[in-house]
Amino acid sequence: MNMGEKTRRDFPILSRIVNGHPLVYLDSAASSQKPLAVIEAVSRYYETSHANVHRSIHTLGEEATERYEAARDAVRAFVGARSREEIIFTRGTTEGINLVAQAVGRTLKPGDEIIVSELEHHSNLIPWQMACRDRGAVLRAIPVVGEGYLDLDAFDRLLSPRTRVVAVAHVSNVLGTINPVTQIAERAHRVGALVLLDGAQAVPHLPLDLNALGADFYAFSGHKMLGPTGSGALWARRQLLDAMPPFLAGGEMIREVHLRRSEWNEVPWKFEAGTPDIASSIGFGVAADYLRELGMDRVREHEKELLTYALVQLMSNHPEIPLYGPLDAGLRSGVVPFNVPGVHAHDVAQVLDRSGVAVRAGHHCTMPLHERLDLPATVRASFNVYTTKADIDALISGITEVKRLFGGFLKAGAG
Ligand code: PMP
Repeated sequence: MNMGEKTRRDFPILSRIVNGHPLVYLDSAASSQKPLAVIEAVSRYYETSHANVHRSIHTLGEEATERYEAARDAVRAFVGARSREEIIFTRGTTEGINLVAQAVGRTLKPGDEIIVSELEHHSNLIPWQMACRDRGAVLRAIPVVGEGYLDLDAFDRLLSPRTRVVAVAHVSNVLGTINPVTQIAERAHRVGALVLLDGAQAVPHLPLDLNALGADFYAFSGHKMLGPTGSGALWARRQLLDAMPPFLAGGEMIREVHLRRSEWNEVPWKFEAGTPDIASSIGFGVAADYLRELGMDRVREHEKELLTYALVQLMSNHPEIPLYGPLDAGLRSGVVPFNVPGVHAHDVAQVLDRSGVAVRAGHHCTMPLHERLDLPATVRASFNVYTTKADIDALISGITEVKRLFGGFLKAGAG
């Protein structure tokens, strides 16, 4: 039995019937499903130990704090961070990137430059647009070339002593491209720029050693890696966090408050103002342990095998279908964007849903990338640990049904 068949038993939602068919969940890049261990950890926490964290010395308060901080340790271990102080709990990748863009943004001067890429998710683009607009800085973008790679020669030409931050996705949420982030970080550091990586689509799928990557900031989401929504983390080098101003202000991020001035708490709590999403973070820690037990090398192999299978099946059963992204599975994660010629991506997704197949259709929060590819939209099938070849077979049959349904209409349109 392979990983998908074995692990899917741990995911109660996967036994659902949708529109009269067994659910085929191929929308994990938008949000992954949750294993029972995560669901139970969240409900056990509410049933037995809920109280606010870092505040109360009563038993429940201490238990809640202990579990919340244990979750931080689990996430730290999962991504290979050196210390728990380097892990800030956030609500997800978006919040982590905004935290950095706001903090670093305050130090930008007119004429400074930020480099992103053409394949960024909006959450690694708009915060930088806002920071540039506020400070008179300039936003530049690494072009996407070929099957969906970043043009590193063009990147070299963009780099200069004016470059303050390079912010790119580790893995593209549309094309699946695994970007050469270590090389990017090395080159950015040569001109003294800081490097932020958007790890939303990498952490759930690749073995990771954050220290070896060479980045300065790394943002990721819990809900894409089997954890609850409302969970995520920002990793950053300790000395950067110590030097950075807080993002949100309020309770718990302070050591001392006077009417007209305050002193900040230690990291990571300096960046965790207000009551955090305690239950979700606890679930996030359990998700990290679950993946660690599966082994990320095995997860990667499983998804690579699925990707190769999906590409071969699509090409042989539906050769007219345009596929996007690198064809080399070694350079790509388990994300398959495609279009059915003559049928709008939303219609494809709707017909697939009628047979229980859940995919996403649209621009996937990457409008500039779709503009670059000259496509209004794509359909995206995406995998996770519980995906099986049978799921991909259901997708292939679903596409046959889309073509059958729209075939007559397209012929009539053409005639
Ligand atoms: N970056 C990438 C590459 C993503 O795929 C996503 C989620 N679609 C995000 C950032 C934003 O993540 P979140 O919505 O969890 O903040």
